[in-house]
Amino acid sequence: MSQSEGRDRLPAPLGDMPPDELEVSAGDVASWISNYLTGVSQYPVLAQVRPGEVRESLPPDLPEEGEPFKELLKDFEELILPGVTHWNHPGFFAYFSITGSAPGVLGEMLASALNINAMVWRSSPVGTELEEHTLALLRDLLGLPEEFAGTINDTASSSTLYALAAAREEKMPEAWEHGLSGASRGRFYTSEQAHASVEKAVITLGFGRSGTRKIPTDPEFRMIPGELRRAVLEDLEAGIKPLGVVATLGTTSTTSVDPVAEISAIAREFDLWLHVDAAYGGPAAAVPEFNPLFRGWEEADSIVVNPHKWLFTPIDCSVLYVRDAERLRKAFSLTPEYLTTPEMGAATNLMDYGIALGRRFRSLKLWFVLRYFGAEGIRARIRQHVAMARDLASSVDEHPDWVRVAPVPFSVVVLRFAPEGVPGEELDRANHEILERVNRTGEFFLSHTVLDGRVCLRVALGNLRTRWEDVERCWELLQELVPPGPGKEGRLRGAPARRGEEPG
Ligand code: PLP
Repeated sequence: MSQSEGRDRLPAPLGDMPPDELEVSAGDVASWISNYLTGVSQYPVLAQVRPGEVRESLPPDLPEEGEPFKELLKDFEELILPGVTHWNHPGFFAYFSITGSAPGVLGEMLASALNINAMVWRSSPVGTELEEHTLALLRDLLGLPEEFAGTINDTASSSTLYALAAAREEKMPEAWEHGLSGASRGRFYTSEQAHASVEKAVITLGFGRSGTRKIPTDPEFRMIPGELRRAVLEDLEAGIKPLGVVATLGTTSTTSVDPVAEISAIAREFDLWLHVDAAYGGPAAAVPEFNPLFRGWEEADSIVVNPHKWLFTPIDCSVLYVRDAERLRKAFSLTPEYLTTPEMGAATNLMDYGIALGRRFRSLKLWFVLRYFGAEGIRARIRQHVAMARDLASSVDEHPDWVRVAPVPFSVVVLRFAPEGVPGEELDRANHEILERVNRTGEFFLSHTVLDGRVCLRVALGNLRTRWEDVERCWELLQELVPPGPGKEGRLRGAPARRGEEPG
């Protein structure tokens, strides 16, 4: 057999979707997306399915022969959509309300088509350089100093883990070589209102559950700096090594704002790493009138801000800023031979700033969002969310049977149905019942929290499609859906109206 005969027998590449089918399918998907984003409010915001129902509805077997894309799109509409809780719905007020905005979605589509992996600079130079450039634009928008360099991670949980890993590297450099066995006990501090991701990070880094010490908060749910100082001194006395402190700008339950400037002074006094969790609240730093809330955050060693929360960028996109990126690189850089490149030293290799080697092209969607809305457009949208939240807070304040449980520095209102004269446990049940009733309507999705041992409801605003009429309607529904019972008649006599107003 001659060489050319052999080559002729090689199979032609089996290939991807044929171009004509791709053209039609891409058009179908694009028009589906545009109809969805325009008409998302027709869907029930919270998926109205029971556990297991989605799975049972799916075709059980993998087909031997491939199926036309049209079939997949049909199943997407009929089988997948019923199991979707619509985070892009204007009535999504649970957790933190977010928006995968149109420019962000379009950026995500293009990034997915390019399918680049920016693990090292040469594996796609624009993946590295657009990330550096976009995060410098965002840093300037937020008013942070130039020493902060950013990287994009999937979530704030990863960003905080990396920040605390950098803290460990700096305060306990011996751990890089020898791990923690035989090392003295280390401690991180955060408030009792901090997100669970801080504790998870500390456990993952090898310090165990006792490696986090939770500092009490004041009546407005803010860390008490004097308590932090006391805890650090107590630990030093006990031979425990203080490593770092995590302050939060916009806590998960109430969006409370820790006094970062005071915490920063204590961090400096005791040589602690200061990490600021501004995963939710961070974008508000773009708005000048909110700057007082951020006083002192520019002194942090690291800061996390999630554009996928309140900066209209499709999930996932979490930004970790570190003052002097070299401090983060030290904790993660480890280059095997097969990843060395001629550009090492001249270009950034983003694999050096975290656990993941592979890196999606997340900066493209963020760059699109920042440029499409512009600084003023972003400020105006954030202002509007805060204004709506504050208007709702005023309505709640005027109602005799409802209390607002926390201040509203940003765009979340925490409230509780609490008429006088009704025992707390009964009110807890009533609040749970109201929550379930509202969520069953499909018009709104709310979540709850527990503060001072009592069940509270959260109305979180942050979606670009939410209008004041939606917020008003939700407030009406909350009042309408109070379950019948003694709770409707009398108010809880003698109980404090809200935290911070306790008698004496
Ligand atoms: N930090 C705060 C203040 C949060 O509210 C959240 C989540 O809501 C997180 C961190 C964790 O965010 P992620 O889901 O990006 O890990």
